[in-house]
Amino acid sequence: MGYHARGSESHEERAHSSDHLSYDHHSIAEVISTQKAFFFDGKTSSIEFRDRMLRLLYDSLLEHKNPLLEALKKDQGRPAFEAYSAEIGFVLMEIKTLRKHLKTLMSPRSVGTSLITAPAKGVLMWEPKGTVLIMSPWNYPVQLLLGPLVGALASGNTAILKPSEFTPHTNGVLCDILRALYPEALVATFLGGASVAEALLDHAYDHIFFTGSTRVGQIVAEKAARFLTPVTLELGGKSPAIVHKDANLELAAKRIVWGKFLNAGQTCIAPDFVYVQWDVRDEFVELCKKRIKAQFGSTPKESPDYGRIISEAHAERLVKLLESGTVIEGGIASIKDRFISPTLLGGVDWDRPVMQEEIFGPLLPILTYDRLEDAVVALRSRPKPLAFYLFSNDEDIQKTLIRQIRFGGGCVNDTILQVLNDRLPFGGVGQSGQGSYHGVQSFKEFSHQKSLVYQSTKIDLPLRYPPYRSWKMKIAEWLLR
Ligand code: NAD
Repeated sequence: MGYHARGSESHEERAHSSDHLSYDHHSIAEVISTQKAFFFDGKTSSIEFRDRMLRLLYDSLLEHKNPLLEALKKDQGRPAFEAYSAEIGFVLMEIKTLRKHLKTLMSPRSVGTSLITAPAKGVLMWEPKGTVLIMSPWNYPVQLLLGPLVGALASGNTAILKPSEFTPHTNGVLCDILRALYPEALVATFLGGASVAEALLDHAYDHIFFTGSTRVGQIVAEKAARFLTPVTLELGGKSPAIVHKDANLELAAKRIVWGKFLNAGQTCIAPDFVYVQWDVRDEFVELCKKRIKAQFGSTPKESPDYGRIISEAHAERLVKLLESGTVIEGGIASIKDRFISPTLLGGVDWDRPVMQEEIFGPLLPILTYDRLEDAVVALRSRPKPLAFYLFSNDEDIQKTLIRQIRFGGGCVNDTILQVLNDRLPFGGVGQSGQGSYHGVQSFKEFSHQKSLVYQSTKIDLPLRYPPYRSWKMKIAEWLLR
């Protein structure tokens, strides 16, 4: 059964109980049909209802701030500042934005008419899709589960949630919050790993919102295609940071080191690798070393501001990737502590394993180019990344590169910030995803745009009806050109 509707154990106990949950196709089907009934009863349709659901979540997140921060610390070793801003604070901002715009977004909009349809009126309105499935990864377990949920609720949907199995403590607190706020007919959460996700994907939804790896994104898209379910895919990839020789190198190093080592490199839009102009490579590397020390001290393992790798298996994968180049800085690892120090890797070629997969950890390969044109050719031959960062003060270079390189979103002279501006829809392109969300775009992503014609019953022009006389043809030719 949908998990958050059940159980009386504490979230600590529940954190470890996901393996014992009983779910099967029947119980999933039951939850879906309960949600559909709730939706078709029109329960989610009023602005008052949606606004109240969002406000409840806002208040509850503030109330549960401490347990959430503790759970994120247990699951991921997250520093409280990062956990608050990127997880709780982020969702609070989303709720505030959507509540502010809800009335405008929900009002049907008159768009006028064309001569051919006059005197009818054209009207556009956003309607909720219905029952949506939201699946999320482990790296920002609050933001990436509740962020889409806020969009889904604002647009009047019911939602089934499947968080990642790798953040049991955080899931426990989230389930407590959601269960206390919402009936299962509105929001239901299923806990578990790939098998639960696969069971969920055997059913039809009105939309699937998936955040995770490109590999699983492909599975989700294939399964959704069987029912022609529309999907939003927020995936990953290798996001480059170009540092050109005219850039402010000190700031570039500061902002790249910040964006890369945030959450120990486990951020979907972290710069995956740096591509720096050869002439300034050594100076840039020295500046990066200084910044790593300034942020985390000489022994990052003792820094309260440096996170941990999600699992020993991931730490082992990352340690193997160290062999792809020469360690310039860092490279210290303790798999059992899920610790890998902030690492700069030199001597890396494109065909090395570290350049063949998304790193998703604190290893920063430094590659070099001579001419910018060659850098563009190299980047264009690779899959379109989720993010792209360009460090250059030259406006012509900025314009040219932004035009020539295709990517989801990015920054000029900074990293990560595109995700923090809720006026900018966030999403990938090609292998890094499809669809987008954040702010009002979340409302639209979870809605169907309904087009309507309201026709007059007082006037009925004869033009369109057979028999088609020659004067009708003349008018048609005059109107439609
Ligand atoms: P993942 O793809 O392994 O897991 C994501 C979700 O899919 C989880 O809920 C998981 O249980 C489920 N899942 C796993 N195997 C499945 C299967 N065979 N069938 C169906 N569902 C399955 O991703 P992850 O390791 O949790 O997260 C890291 C990835 O997520 C990285 O690639 C990262 O770039 C990406 N990511 C993207 C964004 C974005 O906004 N674009 C944000 C964060 C993370």
